[in-house]
Amino acid sequence: MKIRAQIGMVLNLDKCIGCHTCSVTCKNVWTSRQGMEYAWFNNVETKPGIGYPDDWENQERWNGGWERLANGSIRPKLGAKWRILANIFANPDLPTIDDYYEPFTFDYTHLQNAPTSKVTPTARPVSTITGKVMEKIEKGPNWEEILGGEFSKRSKDYNFEAVEKDIYGQFENTFMMYLPRLCEHCLNPACVASCPSGAIYKREEDGIVLIDQDKCRGWRMCVSACPYKKIYFNWESGKSEKCVFCYPRIEMGEPTVCSETCVGRIRYLGVLLYDADRIEQAAATENEGDLYQAQLDIFLNPNDPAVIEAARKEGIPDSWMDAARRSPVYKMAMEWKIAFPLHPEYRTLPMVWYIPPLSPIQNAHAKGQMGSNGVIPDVNSLRIPLRYLANLLTGGNEAPVKLALERMLAMRVYKREQQLHGEGNVAVL
Ligand code: SF4
Ligand code: SF4
Repeated sequence: MKIRAQIGMVLNLDKCIGCHTCSVTCKNVWTSRQGMEYAWFNNVETKPGIGYPDDWENQERWNGGWERLANGSIRPKLGAKWRILANIFANPDLPTIDDYYEPFTFDYTHLQNAPTSKVTPTARPVSTITGKVMEKIEKGPNWEEILGGEFSKRSKDYNFEAVEKDIYGQFENTFMMYLPRLCEHCLNPACVASCPSGAIYKREEDGIVLIDQDKCRGWRMCVSACPYKKIYFNWESGKSEKCVFCYPRIEMGEPTVCSETCVGRIRYLGVLLYDADRIEQAAATENEGDLYQAQLDIFLNPNDPAVIEAARKEGIPDSWMDAARRSPVYKMAMEWKIAFPLHPEYRTLPMVWYIPPLSPIQNAHAKGQMGSNGVIPDVNSLRIPLRYLANLLTGGNEAPVKLALERMLAMRVYKREQQLHGEGNVAVL
């Protein structure tokens, strides 16, 4: 057994309000310079939706992640290094700037100079490429904002009722949720495996994946290989860059910027202990639906005396062992099983975990379709289809997601009862 420590993050999607504070604070700290205008190490996208960059989940198109070979082993799907020569001339697997978005700033003078209107003027987006006000944003990772902008523009007609019916009517039978995304600091990172220069590495002490800027030669194999499209090419420096998990802050005992500034307080940081010898076997698991469980099986119980002793022998410091014992990530992902990896079927073993959103179940609960014990009698009553969440979080395995939703609902009912009747007088469950 080769024990290693990994820092991970859990995001509670039930609480994300899509305010983008995390993205903006991250951008201010890490990507506010020339060559990185288009890059968001952290972004928040509306799901279902095309995401950022466009269509990033379409692995057939981008050739990202790992593939499982007939002999059971795995290799980066890119076909990697033998394709380098072809890629010098044209890498068909690289997103272009059109797949990201046209960088823009805002015209704040409009706030003072706008003509009288029944709607509050907003700062209009101005392209940093053309310097012109962008009258229409055709597409993007937050389609509901585009529809909202359309509403504001067309409400100049003052026929609110008609505009509302036309635009908001489109929302009635749909569902949406916010998905904040950052580099997953994977246990089996395709970016590391695909780099011909050996510039990308995973830190031994905490598992943070970094790019050595001195070694990077701008091949961009990592951009193609990363199935989450979380590596960005800096056109000014000619090097690839990515989320660094705010490692200078982590080393000082501070949380990442996105965690600290999150308005919804949805982000939790914690340490996990895992058996590095089991990574390859887990990543090569045959059925996609089993990959979630295979990923869980790599992790070790930080309270197990045998694990504690083995970790000490490996030189893992006591402070990290202590952090592993108190880790909210361990509790939510391994003990309570309410947090899941994003697209485990990409086989990179991602280390950012997501609690699925509960809100649609509350609707069902309010309609009396569910018992107070939190059991979901009819999965078809969920507004966000269970299948959709399972495809996002467990490689299509619905049962663990359903159990997590039920657990969270039960806890919500319990807490409400506690509030109403006081500690010790909770009658439900
Ligand atoms: Fe590498 Fe991050 Fe992509 Fe994983 S998510 S493959 S660690 S860039
Ligand atoms: Fe969601 Fe928090 Fe980011 Fe706001 S700051 S979008 S609540 S993750």
